[in-house]
Amino acid sequence: MTSDFIPVANPKAQYTAHADEINEAVRQVLDSGWYVLGEQVKNFEAEFAAFHGLDHCIGVANGTEAISIALRAVGVRPGDEVITVSHSAVATAAAIEIIGARPVFADIDPITRCIDPASFEQLIWKRTKAVVPVHIYGHPADMKRIMEIAHKRDISVIEDCAQAHAAEIDGRKVGTFGDAAAFSFYPTKNLGAIGDGGAVITNSSEIAENVRADREYGWRERFISSSPGYNTRLDEIQAAILRVKLRYLEQDNARRRAIADKYDSAADGKVVCAPARTNGALHAMHLYVVECDDRASLGQALKSEGIGTGIHYPAAIHQQPAYAIRIRGYDRLPNTEALYKRILSLPMYPELTDEQVDRVCKALAKWIGH
Ligand SMILES: *Cc1c(COP(=O)(O)O)cnc(C)c1O
Repeated sequence: MTSDFIPVANPKAQYTAHADEINEAVRQVLDSGWYVLGEQVKNFEAEFAAFHGLDHCIGVANGTEAISIALRAVGVRPGDEVITVSHSAVATAAAIEIIGARPVFADIDPITRCIDPASFEQLIWKRTKAVVPVHIYGHPADMKRIMEIAHKRDISVIEDCAQAHAAEIDGRKVGTFGDAAAFSFYPTKNLGAIGDGGAVITNSSEIAENVRADREYGWRERFISSSPGYNTRLDEIQAAILRVKLRYLEQDNARRRAIADKYDSAADGKVVCAPARTNGALHAMHLYVVECDDRASLGQALKSEGIGTGIHYPAAIHQQPAYAIRIRGYDRLPNTEALYKRILSLPMYPELTDEQVDRVCKALAKWIGH
């Protein structure tokens, strides 16, 4: 690969962009002598809650456990069913099984690629306790319909916002629609730590208290476990880094959308279909995923021009060995299965230069015209 190879993701560039501030924030933590659940976590929690206009944020160790303990906090117990999608990171289904609950897969809407509300509604029965809509790639799910159905059927809603930090629907941020929402701060996410991190946000003090207890051995009072809990804490260094990066999140997302605008005009809508942005959606553009019948050839052509691509993901969750056949709903996912043959991710991060973006656009246009 040449030195000007454009990788599909570049977490190092996200550090370099704010290196001075991050180094200083880390140094302060090192000097403070307090490394787990201290002032940095407390301040980050207050700032991330305020960013969403909500009362509570609880920092945890990663996004997977954020989903698990948010589900437990709304009362999901072993044997209960939780409806979600097979078109997600495996983490979404793993988070449900970790707590002994059963994932159930609804199909996706082919335009938004998020959960199809009608498919969700069809799967509801007496065992259904919760739904986890995933705002996949940064595009918001149809929260208005999902909340209507969930209210009518008395089902809790935990939003999986791991790919959608600061995405919006009609000016309202994702993560503020459901009973609670889970975030990941894995390094490549729109708001990324330099290591693992996650958070739960909610407006319910009861849910927040349950999450706080589950985060640390079921403690509601220090050293006294009132329920059997977990250990899933956010550390001070990651919280300090996240506080720096949170200040740049909205401008970073705007840059991602500007890059997406350019990619959109290089795609032709027939051979290469750009991702949709439906009315009212402010897309977080975590990933820029095109659809193409011959994605292998497109990926090869871009590679020969020094441009990396990815497939998110090579298989839907119900197509992975650990989950095949055994998850309810797996045999009725036509839209999910059709999408998986056609997806290809182009480089997408705010630090891409205009020259790099132009190179991607030219290579795309060249392949389409071949
Ligand atoms: C990244 C991700 C997660 C899990 O986050 P981790 O911090 O890696 O545990 C969950 N759901 C989705 C959709 C993700 O992209």
